[in-house]
Amino acid sequence: MTGSRILIVEDEPAILRGLKDTFVSKGCEVVTATDGEAGMHLALSAKPDLVLLDIMLPKINGYEICRAIRASGSDVPIVMLTAKGQEEDIVLGLNLGADDYVVKPFKIRELVARANAFLRRHRAAPEEVFRFGDCALNLSAHKLFRGGGEIELTAKEFSLLAYFASRAGRALTRNDILNAVWGNSVMVTPRSIDRCVTTLRAKIEPDPHNPEFIRTIRDIGYRFEA
Ligand code: CA
Repeated sequence: MTGSRILIVEDEPAILRGLKDTFVSKGCEVVTATDGEAGMHLALSAKPDLVLLDIMLPKINGYEICRAIRASGSDVPIVMLTAKGQEEDIVLGLNLGADDYVVKPFKIRELVARANAFLRRHRAAPEEVFRFGDCALNLSAHKLFRGGGEIELTAKEFSLLAYFASRAGRALTRNDILNAVWGNSVMVTPRSIDRCVTTLRAKIEPDPHNPEFIRTIRDIGYRFEA
């Protein structure tokens, strides 16, 4: 994380100061903005490695910034700083291209851990074989192995698992998943995802009723934890 450039867009002085001090102490270069206009400008010009983005901001809100970053073609990780009890806002932000969120008041240590994971992943090249638990997903061979034996997956289960693997650690809405895995197919509903998740869990989870890899995020969607 040392040497990474972090953009923090936050209009609450105490939160901004706390975040800035923390990331500076980790050796990061920290760029800050206290309103949406300055935040938008920096997001598009400062080439940050990670963006911590408040939603309710003076002038331009965080959603618009999120949208503009993705419209510019950047895939920089974006973590939204959101207020409590606003699941719909979180879903909106994730659908606009944010990767994750923390709910205020958040634990700084948790946010740092999450930031660290994003920074590592952003730099690492995509791997051919993705490992989690006792499973190995071979992306080029389209095969899943568990404990040495091959596990049969349907085409949709494979696509879903490959998508989860490529977005590990990120909060994914049902809408994200539907678009990425099912595309424009008209016969699918969010329930189709839930059904596919259920069959996939039965194949990869040590305890499908208490999943450790494919986690449900209530009212939002799923998060794959490797
Ligand atoms: Ca705010």
